[in-house]
Amino acid sequence: MKIIVLKFGGTSVGTIKRINNISKIIVSYLKKRFKVIVVTSAMSGATNKLIKKSKQISDKFNDSEYDVLVSSGEQISCSLIAAKLSHLGYKSKSYLGWQVPIITDNAHKSAKIISIGKKVLINYLRQDGVPIVAGFQGISLDGRITTLGRGASDYTAIMISKYFKAKKCIIYTDVEGVMTTDPRIYRKAKKIKEISYEEMLEMSSLGSKVMQSNSVQDARLSRVNIDVRSSLIKSKGTLIKKKKNVRQNNVIRGISSTTNDAKVTLVGVKDKPGVAASIFEPLSTNNINVDMVVQNISPNKVDTDVTFTVKKDDLNKTKKLTKNNKRIKFRKLLIDDKVSKVSIIGVGMITTPGVTYRMFKALSKKNINILVISTSEIKISVLVSRTKLRKAVSALHKEFKLD
Ligand code: ASP
Ligand code: MG
Repeated sequence: MKIIVLKFGGTSVGTIKRINNISKIIVSYLKKRFKVIVVTSAMSGATNKLIKKSKQISDKFNDSEYDVLVSSGEQISCSLIAAKLSHLGYKSKSYLGWQVPIITDNAHKSAKIISIGKKVLINYLRQDGVPIVAGFQGISLDGRITTLGRGASDYTAIMISKYFKAKKCIIYTDVEGVMTTDPRIYRKAKKIKEISYEEMLEMSSLGSKVMQSNSVQDARLSRVNIDVRSSLIKSKGTLIKKKKNVRQNNVIRGISSTTNDAKVTLVGVKDKPGVAASIFEPLSTNNINVDMVVQNISPNKVDTDVTFTVKKDDLNKTKKLTKNNKRIKFRKLLIDDKVSKVSIIGVGMITTPGVTYRMFKALSKKNINILVISTSEIKISVLVSRTKLRKAVSALHKEFKLD
């Protein structure tokens, strides 16, 4: 069976007009003789409205009831799509998570899929039916409705693709695909044709909001090829696939940036073993994620400065915890939340020398001061002043020939 999974996000099913429009997309695949499984998100805004209602009832709204409530958005959209296809003369039926069934663990609000039954849908596909599966929901081992976490209808689509060995999983969204950088920051951003899971993971965890990093990770582990594209305009999207299958071989695939980081510097901490551990211990026990870290070399071997970044939301807590930390002494605590992290990403840098140099050189030519640096195998990040964000992105975009 030539199965394809088509997943439609909230904006793609946001109005009746849009549902009419995506029905045409579904039909086009039926005409190409694909067996189509549709996975849908709720109409845009629907889930947020439901969550608001739960908050109006109680700030301690029961998790299991929360899942029954917020999963209902998908129940509406899947029935509308199925009914539209029937209206057009195609055989189509909606399937809620429990009807497939999509079995999950008992972790309400962010359940993980344990298994997906194949019989029901395969039977229906054999009869030339088009199943429209409600994304984002499942049924727990205890027989209760679960949801898979915000934005997790992608996760449903990827797991369905895996279980049904789909040829492809197309994620229809409101953007044209993954861009080399945020077009609002740099106008000449281009659509990336092909990208590896690893690069995509970095792009999404660093602030490109096309897909959630969890879902990309799931796709990587299940080896599902993903195609992200727009349901609103007709154009080729971005293919996300295995490293070795990615053609287009730029050293750097994309540039991402953040605006929600803050820099913390402890001036004059003792330069002796155990100090760094003492600084970060209370942050770790309080679930504060420390991202970039530098420790200056101390010329006198007595004291030194330690700089690190945390998310802006965690800044106040970090300040308090650090000030109250009895195990360390420092002269001053400096805070800067007007910073941005700019990262270049590309598997090509593993085998290409000189990338770091080119990055720093391009920034220095524009007189941009680098505050903190961190690297991984496929990524180099620098922290710069927020006012230099646009300049930095455009300089790097040009330097690595992404224009
Ligand atoms: N409707 C759910 C949400 O808004 C799932 C999704 O859209 O992927 O979080
Ligand atoms: Mg959504």
